[in-house]
Amino acid sequence: MRLIGGQVFDLEKGFVRRDVCFDGALLAQDSADGSCYDASGCYVIPGLTDLHFHGCVGEDFSDATPEGLGKIARYQLSRGVTQICPAGMTLGEAQLIRICQNAAAHRAGHSGGAELVGVHLEGPFLSKAKKGAQNEAFLHDPDPAMLHRLQQAAQGMVKLVTLAPEQPGALDFIRSAQAEGITVSLGHTTADYDTACAAYEAGARQATHLFNAMPAFTHRAPGVVGAAFDHPQVKVELICDGVHIHPAMVRAVFQLFGAERVILVSDSLRATGMPDGRYPFGGQEIEVHGNRATMVGAPDTLAGSVSDLMACVKHAVSFGIPLHDAVRAAAVNPAQVLGIFHRLGSLDVGKTANLAILDDHLNLKDVFFHGQRVEGSA
Ligand SMILES: [Zn+2]
Repeated sequence: MRLIGGQVFDLEKGFVRRDVCFDGALLAQDSADGSCYDASGCYVIPGLTDLHFHGCVGEDFSDATPEGLGKIARYQLSRGVTQICPAGMTLGEAQLIRICQNAAAHRAGHSGGAELVGVHLEGPFLSKAKKGAQNEAFLHDPDPAMLHRLQQAAQGMVKLVTLAPEQPGALDFIRSAQAEGITVSLGHTTADYDTACAAYEAGARQATHLFNAMPAFTHRAPGVVGAAFDHPQVKVELICDGVHIHPAMVRAVFQLFGAERVILVSDSLRATGMPDGRYPFGGQEIEVHGNRATMVGAPDTLAGSVSDLMACVKHAVSFGIPLHDAVRAAAVNPAQVLGIFHRLGSLDVGKTANLAILDDHLNLKDVFFHGQRVEGSA
């Protein structure tokens, strides 16, 4: 297959006019089969990777059902999110084990849809004061032994864990997580600047949905945001659904951290791709109106988003972020964090041919996965 006439994402050069070829599942220098796709007037971008979302189309990753995870993976693929690392919630260990086992079985079964490239444990190692939409009954002090049991259940698929670093034993937990091959992200936390710095110096590498569920970034108390900024190896998740973060703050974060340190995430819920209404959420209930999802009985507590990651890229551009920076933050950076960038996340020859075609208004036109056009995409 040869895609012709498109503006093609290049990490170093911006968007360049060139052909994109693939042979079978891999991007290639040339194409032998003679088939052609006219991408004139379109952008060709690498498939996105969402490393922080909970569900969509009525399903939640935390339900731990094979059918549900299959539906999630197929919906995400249809939206150009070709790699997924869904997030669990604060639940009891038995349910977390089921979530991890379900992920491992899904991956082993090559069950279709977007490729499952990891599991994000958003809880239970969080702060009670900043639990947000997480269920307080299941919060747990940082526990390396529990993390090990979960990683075993997931057969190594746990790639990210969110941690409140002010909790007892947090620094030892960070070191244990690293030994398990898991990146620690600070979030759902009351940590001040010094506590967050100590965690980053112990090996934490990320901040979970920056600004949300953490102390504010203020002139004498810069908190997790300031600590993340001061540690250049740290990347920050940013929910870009137009509800969680004011557009001016989205612009400020890209300036402050640089596009190479921002990871766009959707934090999307099961109500994504569904009509307004009430939906279950981690043993609680949420209410969805338009783009906004809140806890029932606590209308000021946001409970994640109802925008998928491709919609977040479009939101970011509408807020003034250059398309190249937004794509970098949704395709390249998350792939780097998850250790898959050698084979995914850009359009370099030799990588897997997972890509999305956007029209000049950034509407999704087509998705290719392993070199095959995805039916029913866009
Ligand atoms: Zn959260």
